[in-house]
Amino acid sequence: MKDIETQIIHHAYQAPGSFAAAQPPVHRASTVVFDSVRAMHESDWRDKSAYTYGLHGTPTTFTLEERLCTLEGGRFCTLAPSGLAAITLVNMALLQAGDEVLLPDNVYGPNASFVSVELAKWGITHQMYDPLDANDLAGRINSATRLVWIEAAGSVSLEFPDGPALVQAVAQANTRRDRKICTVLDNTWGAGLAFKPFEWGVDISVQALTKYPSGGADVLMGSVITRDPDLHSTVQMTHSRLGLGVAGDDAERVLRGLPSMRLRYLRQDHTTRELAQWAQSKSEFSRVLHPALAGSPGHEAFSRLCDGAACLFSVVFDKRFSREKVEAFCDALQLFQLGYSWAGPMSLVVPYQLPAMRTLPVPYDGVLVRFAVGLESPRDLIEDLEQALASIG
Ligand SMILES: *Cc1c(COP(=O)(O)O)cnc(C)c1O
Repeated sequence: MKDIETQIIHHAYQAPGSFAAAQPPVHRASTVVFDSVRAMHESDWRDKSAYTYGLHGTPTTFTLEERLCTLEGGRFCTLAPSGLAAITLVNMALLQAGDEVLLPDNVYGPNASFVSVELAKWGITHQMYDPLDANDLAGRINSATRLVWIEAAGSVSLEFPDGPALVQAVAQANTRRDRKICTVLDNTWGAGLAFKPFEWGVDISVQALTKYPSGGADVLMGSVITRDPDLHSTVQMTHSRLGLGVAGDDAERVLRGLPSMRLRYLRQDHTTRELAQWAQSKSEFSRVLHPALAGSPGHEAFSRLCDGAACLFSVVFDKRFSREKVEAFCDALQLFQLGYSWAGPMSLVVPYQLPAMRTLPVPYDGVLVRFAVGLESPRDLIEDLEQALASIG
């Protein structure tokens, strides 16, 4: 008879494996055990035919990866512990000393920061390009160019690029070189719902699952999806060397958010357009930025390429409102809370210093405020905006 502490670990009872709950279960593990040394050596996590170690995937993470591939129309998915980790993973997997990466001028800020500080240490250079001008991108491609980021729409200022034209500019350059340039889209805004990234011809689609797929504002995660087995293998091996595994509980939270994702996307899109239209009628704002509005940068490309839009819009305050006044407006909002991120249930607001975030000249001279619209009632949100405007006169 074994001692009690041994018995409660090596227990004879095994629960039957046929517990068919509607929702996939959470599997938590560092260690998984094997029947034999041979099985240990033959288990391959890379093609999802087996498990070797928690860091390399569990039933929960594999299930989420496959569902996300379906969402985005890709074949292979790698999960990372945040959207930013997914971005830095792609940069590290695909770039080496001497390479150059091109970023749109309106790129998600922390990506630019990673490239200009961390990658610069490793002898990797970068340039910013004008996302609304495929010729500008084409003109910046040189023999060192290896990776081109695309963002649709741009963070904060919401310019919508002609994505397929940007991909085409890179494809054109690729006909003249041996080492191909890869295109990678930050697809957090489109979320796999507004448009199909691989139909644009991108090689990789990255998403902050933190936003729509989770939808709860309570989990951080990112995905890297591709149709190309070689690119996937490169990303997957860098991922395993860096140890960027995700927790089963977090993966399960995203699996819970996925079924309602499309409904939330549609509802938030609807409310956002209603608010953006309301904003256009207000003399306090000199511009309203939302790609569905005629006159918003990239409106034509958006109309041609998209079936929907994310829950973001920005306003530029008329010049008569000082930064202090605009900050007082943000402080006066009751339902819109001050906070980063978006696509959760609660509406959020952030004032931005746009010129400090761009290399290209910014065509607006007032203070910009970005709204992330949640799941509250549109009427209540407009009332909140009205009262905050009234409070700053
Ligand atoms: C939020 C966001 C990210 C990063 O996601 P985290 O999970 O917060 O790291 C990347 N790209 C875009 C466009 C985002 O909005």
